[in-house]
Amino acid sequence: MKFVIAFLVLWLLFGILEWQFPLRKEQKHFRQGWLTDVAHFFFNHILINAGTYLIAAFLYVFFKGVISPSLQQAVRSQPALLQFIEAFFIAQLAFYIVHRLAHTVPWLWRFHAIHHSSVELDWLASARLHPVEAIAINIAVGVPLFLLGFTRETFGIYLVFGAILPILNHSNTRFQFPMLNLIIATPDFHHWHHSNDREARDKNFSGFPIIDLIFGTYYVPKDQIPKSYGVDEMMPQTYWRQLLYPFQSTRLNKR
Ligand SMILES: [Zn+2]
Ligand SMILES: [Zn+2]
Repeated sequence: MKFVIAFLVLWLLFGILEWQFPLRKEQKHFRQGWLTDVAHFFFNHILINAGTYLIAAFLYVFFKGVISPSLQQAVRSQPALLQFIEAFFIAQLAFYIVHRLAHTVPWLWRFHAIHHSSVELDWLASARLHPVEAIAINIAVGVPLFLLGFTRETFGIYLVFGAILPILNHSNTRFQFPMLNLIIATPDFHHWHHSNDREARDKNFSGFPIIDLIFGTYYVPKDQIPKSYGVDEMMPQTYWRQLLYPFQSTRLNKR
């Protein structure tokens, strides 16, 4: 029920924002793949939570031995803001590595291509993520934070932030946040990541654009918007076919 309320609140809030401040005015509210993404929004939540807990419990047995209580104590005794900044940087670096690998390793791309299959972006397109990929991201980001011993509060704030940011940066809005656009991935930054324009491919991986600047993958041309979104390969349109897609196709071609 909580999730139904969250959906309705986000639908209303972003419905108003995307209607009043659209990046692409011509885009319909019930755009191509809208229902598929509603299915991703609801089903993935259950699959991702269950999968993440299961794998995390399994990994805990393996990693228990490498936990350093003195390091964890040192991390926990820092001021809350400093902990959050550190957790944010570590999480974003882990996310950058996993995300870039998903674009580079062909069998990982099979999963990630689902996320890139949207040809129109809005807040709901953020939900289109293969659950296996979402679980892998949660584990890659969560394990270092857990091992380093960040407090529950730091973890919690990061989880909320990590849930809101993608919803904002996929939205069909023209918000640019000039002061913030190197600190967080704003819609213009992440829309270029989804662009199928040749010069924009494999750019803007992070939720913290400075990491892309450091690794030379930052791409935000001034006063332009992407010509098109999506991938070159034929992608299935329904939720269940998208779930099966990485396991079915034998052609391992990227884009
Ligand atoms: Zn990507
Ligand atoms: Zn995205």
